Amino acid sequence: MTFSLHGLPVSQGIAIGHVHLVSHALLEVNHYHVPSKHLADELERLAEAVACVRGELVGLKAAAKAGQSHSEVGAFVDLQLMMLADPMLIEAARGLIESRRCNAEWALVQQLDLVVEQFRQIEDPYLRERQADVVQVVERLVKVLLGHPGHLPPKRRDGLGTVIVAHDLSPADTIGFRDHNIAGFVTDVGGPTSHTAIVARSLAIPAVVGLHHIRDLVEDNELIIIDGTRGIAIIAPDETIVQEYRLRRAELELERSKLNRLKDTPATTLDGEDVSLFANIEGPKDVGQVKAANADGVGLYRTEFLFIGRDTLPDEDEQYEAYRAVLKAMPGKTVTIRTFDVGADKALNGHHGRTEPNPALGLRAVRYSLAEPKMFLTQLRALLRASVHGKLQIMVPMLAHAHEIDQSLALIDKAKAELRAEKVKFSDSVPVGGMIEIPAAALSLGMFIRRLSFLSIGTNDLIQYTLAIDRSDEAVVHLYDPLHPAVLKLISNTIQAGARAGLPVSVCGEMAGDPAYTQLFLGMGLRNFSMHPAHILEIKQQVLRADVGELAPKVQRILKMDEQARVRDAVERL
Ligand code: PEP
Ligand code: MG
Repeated sequence: MTFSLHGLPVSQGIAIGHVHLVSHALLEVNHYHVPSKHLADELERLAEAVACVRGELVGLKAAAKAGQSHSEVGAFVDLQLMMLADPMLIEAARGLIESRRCNAEWALVQQLDLVVEQFRQIEDPYLRERQADVVQVVERLVKVLLGHPGHLPPKRRDGLGTVIVAHDLSPADTIGFRDHNIAGFVTDVGGPTSHTAIVARSLAIPAVVGLHHIRDLVEDNELIIIDGTRGIAIIAPDETIVQEYRLRRAELELERSKLNRLKDTPATTLDGEDVSLFANIEGPKDVGQVKAANADGVGLYRTEFLFIGRDTLPDEDEQYEAYRAVLKAMPGKTVTIRTFDVGADKALNGHHGRTEPNPALGLRAVRYSLAEPKMFLTQLRALLRASVHGKLQIMVPMLAHAHEIDQSLALIDKAKAELRAEKVKFSDSVPVGGMIEIPAAALSLGMFIRRLSFLSIGTNDLIQYTLAIDRSDEAVVHLYDPLHPAVLKLISNTIQAGARAGLPVSVCGEMAGDPAYTQLFLGMGLRNFSMHPAHILEIKQQVLRADVGELAPKVQRILKMDEQARVRDAVERL
């Protein structure tokens, strides 16, 4: 019987193949006491296993290096080598063998429980997820101690690939996947920042994680389809479904191979206009994707993701580390970091405990920052400290009033004065820009242009506030129309005003990553786009096909239209 399961899509594409179940019983090891006279042998067994795993990891690293595209894998292997050398693990396990006469497997698993517990206490979600690496290192050791090496199934001859179904996988486990015709994998657990997810993306192997009990629901060799774009696993599909997915896969592959070829092509229009394509990120974890798409820099780093979903605020050092990590990873490229845009749908845990009558119109973004100057100052200090590590720009969200900029700039000056007094280094020439996402700002650009070094149009909010539609309210989502003539006029005004003043303007809302609007924006005069890194190549393809000279007069005509249906038709024709 065909059935499907939904999980977290972590790596795009479609895989069709036979299930290869990977068992997870490894850590359920025997517990026994070693006779005193054999203790030395037991210690030797452990030492040999450690040496063997170290050898395996070093070998994997070399294989990763030779395979070029696996630089991330190399880093994970390093991490596992480090864990293998950590006294908390091996030395402590030796201690347990000596003092309590535990067998080596049992000693390791006991120590593992302690280490994992320590990882669970870590607040940083990225570091917390690294507990998976400790588990994988111990699994490797236990495998060697028990004498069964891990193995991948041989290549199949029926043209179908193998789909690995596991509780969890280590990045190192995935290295041999290409050679064994592994079409994709699904796991019970895993998050979007898990190493395995990262590696799956870098290998371009479709993967879905977080499918909970999939291991209990499928059988070895059963046919399975995974749709890594939508996060679906279809088990025991019938022939019609298989055919449908074969077709989808062929289309996707063609599209992707065409797009990947554009990675190193400059984004220049047919008539020679250069366009910059920047990436939107939520934290250092996204930098890999930014580099994979060869973005021109970061156009929007939404720092509020450092603040939300936790009980305490990140201190100056934690913020500094996050900003520095991104700046260092993007040498020579501009990194635009937006000051925290908390409030409304991105509320802080337990902060301000006030029920707002209308959160989208309430204490949000720069309003919140200015209401909490201490918190704002901490972020500005962290940003300035990080500024020595790259080309930083600071961006302030949701401006509507001149005094909001004046106060923000005064706080930046205060942060600088403090750092100067403390003899802490920072760059004195960090450009400060603002987001145009409230209609009032788009209609009074002069006061923003006079005070700021660049502007970025947040179309998500600009649409919300122009059309009076709460972007998080499903009931009015059908009224959310990016092509409403009023919205287009505000965007175009902003681009024009920036051009007249010689101030860079970008668009960083979702519209920038939607190929349906690229020609329209180019015709309006936009040359800087910022979007999720996954969209960059698709937008570049649109840029390469565009002729700005031809588009500009057409777009001028569209901007004069005041019927939504006519606008839509005309934009489609572009
Ligand atoms: C926007 O409003 O378009 C924007 C980019 O900011 P956010 O989506 O974070 O509100
Ligand atoms: Mg916004």
